Amino acid sequence: MMYRTCVQCGASFRRNRVGRPAVKCETCRAKYGSAYKKLRAATKEAAIGTPCRRCGLPMLNPDDMDLGHDDVTGEIAGWEHGRGCNRAAGAHKLNAQKRIANGRQPSKAV
Ligand SMILES: [Zn+2]
Ligand SMILES: [Zn+2]
Repeated sequence: MMYRTCVQCGASFRRNRVGRPAVKCETCRAKYGSAYKKLRAATKEAAIGTPCRRCGLPMLNPDDMDLGHDDVTGEIAGWEHGRGCNRAAGAHKLNAQKRIANGRQPSKAV
């Protein structure tokens, strides 16, 4: 049995012998799986012009929107800006992880 390390969360998972070699664990693949893509495609049109769930500003550029996940639970949370808000959140998380690695407490999230 082969084990691999998930590129997303670092967990080790059993590699499926059929198909392309997976680089992400079940959980991370499910996160951006076909259900997510379907929901994303189905709700995008309606989400244009609605407020971003992170900054509250309207999302006017369909190319700069992302169906975001909750930072804590990983559940699909709602639409947010792609470049500004979604990516910034990713960077925040990374910085928090670095702070933990350095032995300091991450700043308390609200
Ligand atoms: Zn993973
Ligand atoms: Zn935003």
